Amino acid sequence: MSNTLNLFQSIKEYRTWRKTVSGRIGFVPTMGALHEGHASLLRAARRQCDYVVLSIFVNSEQFSPGEDFEKYPRNLISECQLAEKEGVDIVFAPNSDMIYPEGFSTYVEETQLSQPLCGKFRPGHFRGVTTIVLKLFNIIQPDIAFFGMKDAQQFFVLEKMVADLGLPIEMKGEPAVREVDGLAMSSRNAYLSNEDREKAPLIYRTLKETAEILKTGESVRGTLKSARKKLEEKGIKLQYLQARRLPDLSLEQTDVLDKNVAYVIALAAFIGKTRLIDNFILEPCS
Ligand code: AMP
Repeated sequence: MSNTLNLFQSIKEYRTWRKTVSGRIGFVPTMGALHEGHASLLRAARRQCDYVVLSIFVNSEQFSPGEDFEKYPRNLISECQLAEKEGVDIVFAPNSDMIYPEGFSTYVEETQLSQPLCGKFRPGHFRGVTTIVLKLFNIIQPDIAFFGMKDAQQFFVLEKMVADLGLPIEMKGEPAVREVDGLAMSSRNAYLSNEDREKAPLIYRTLKETAEILKTGESVRGTLKSARKKLEEKGIKLQYLQARRLPDLSLEQTDVLDKNVAYVIALAAFIGKTRLIDNFILEPCS
């Protein structure tokens, strides 16, 4: 195990280092703008692996036109300071030309789990995510990869890609880290005005209450409808609010949830112009 942080900005530098190590490599892919949520992934990797690799790459391919690609926060120096504090061994921060060279034309796409929820409203988003994560997996060659369940659909899409393509990588989904009032940490929270920020905790509170009600066998349609109404009355505009089976993200055929099945209650909503996502995972009873 090494104790000093190395910053690699080229694939070649990383590959040279990779050839010299043989322990377990834990990998945390991010787009930077690091917060406690990312730190929790780094700590999980630190506990379970010999080397921790953090990638920082703002991936143009997963942003749709009009989204916040240009204004996404970029500050490599402060990201490296946080990484060092968390005991990261390697920060891999390539530039865009290295990842997407002129004429790049190969993409990887999961075609089922990526269709509903965010997939419906952000066309091309998951194709961008699977493409970059596969490319990073090929470069980093990790043993274990750590993702946040804050982005539950992303985790299940990537887990499916790893299974379908037979990649020798263990996938770990770590719990979402939240502010004290329940708002899931996200780089996008910084876009909220003071007034919007006050409304935001209602999202997770409502998700939690909805999950509690659904657990008792109440109607899915009715429960989601009243949750939607409650949020919209407070000026939170829902894009979707759905209960889906895990791990395949399919819809339940009946109007009640099966107590023996795991579900995700997933939501995307706008507060003002800021789009937030969150979810609650309902574990099976047994
Ligand atoms: P990103 O913020 O898009 O760069 O995400 C990089 C990784 O951090 C992904 O695996 C996210 O799911 C994870 N992540 C982002 N926010 C949180 C959070 N609040 N709690 C836990 N993990 C998170």
